[in-house]
Amino acid sequence: MFDRIACALAITMLAPACAVQESASNPSANPKTAESVPDGSAWQPYPGASKDAEFLKKTPAAFRPFVERCDPWDDWDKPAPPFKIHGSTYYVGTCGIAAILVANDDGLALFDSGTEGGARIVEDNIRTLGFDPLNVKALVVSHEHFDHAGGMAYLQKLTGAAIYAGQAASPVIRSGQSDPKDPQAGMHEPMEPVPGSVRSVKNGEIGTVAGLEITAISTPGHTYGAMSYQWKSCEGDQCLTLVYADSLSPVSSDEYKFSENEGYVTSYFDGLERLGRLDCDILLTPHPSHSQMLKRMRTDTMIEPTACAYYAIGKARDLEKRLRREAEETE
Ligand SMILES: [Zn+2]
Repeated sequence: MFDRIACALAITMLAPACAVQESASNPSANPKTAESVPDGSAWQPYPGASKDAEFLKKTPAAFRPFVERCDPWDDWDKPAPPFKIHGSTYYVGTCGIAAILVANDDGLALFDSGTEGGARIVEDNIRTLGFDPLNVKALVVSHEHFDHAGGMAYLQKLTGAAIYAGQAASPVIRSGQSDPKDPQAGMHEPMEPVPGSVRSVKNGEIGTVAGLEITAISTPGHTYGAMSYQWKSCEGDQCLTLVYADSLSPVSSDEYKFSENEGYVTSYFDGLERLGRLDCDILLTPHPSHSQMLKRMRTDTMIEPTACAYYAIGKARDLEKRLRREAEETE
C-alpha cells in the first residue's frame, strides 16, 4: 500500500523512479516501459453492486441518487440523475458513459455526447439541472468512438455549437467513418457525420471555450485522436484542478498488434506519462468505471489528488501486459 502511494506521489512530483520510463527489458523492444511501476491498477476493490446502507450514509447527499441508481459497470444508455461534481462542473452522462458539463457566464461547455441514444439523456440531464441546452457553445470530444461521440451530430444540430477534437479525431467526427489506423477499425458501425464545424486541438494548447480555459493534453493509445482535458474549478474559497482523462485502454480488433506499431506505442506511453504528472484533484473518465468513480463517490468527495497518477500507472501496466501477450503469441 505504502509503495503504491509513494510511487503515485513520486510520479506527480516528476521523480523518475516510478514513472513510466525507459528500459531495455521491454518485450516489445519499444523504448518505454512500465516494468518498474508497482501495480497502480490495484486500487481497493470496489465493494460491489449492493446498495449497502453504511456506504450510502457516508455518500455526500448530492451524489446519492446516482450511487443508488447506477452500478459500477453499467449500461451505456441507462439514464442517470445528473449531479454537481464541483463548482460549476456537472455530471450529465448516463450510468455507463460520462458527459461533463461546465457552466460559465459565457455559456456551457459539454465534454462528450454519449452514444446517439445517450445524447438525448444528456440533453434531458442538462435541462434537469436548470440549464438550457441551446446555451451549449462548445462540444468537446475525448475520443472518436461512437460510445462517446455518437451523439455529437444530434447535439450539434440542436445547439449549433462548434465541436473540438484531437487532430486525428476530427476527420472521423466529420465523416462518421472510423480511422483505418484505429486499433478498433472495422469493429463499430459508422457514426452520423456532424453538420457543422469541427476544430482540431493540439497537445498543450490552452483555449477558452464558452468562457472556460481548458488545457488539451494529447493521450493517444486507445485511438490516434484521443485527448484529455484539464481545467480549474472554484467553489467558494476552494479552487481545484479537474482532469477529464481519456479511456487509454489497449483494446483492438483480433488482427491488430500494438507491437507492430512501435511509434504509436511510444506515443501511447508518452501520453500516459504526461497524464500521470498532471495536477489533478478530481479525475473524471469517459467510462466512469475505469476510474472507479462510484467508489470514490460513495466514500467521500471525489477529490483524490493521486488519481491521475494511479490511473496512468494502471493503464501503462495494461499496455505492458498486452505487449507481453503479443510477444508470447508470436513466439
Ligand atoms: Zn473507445
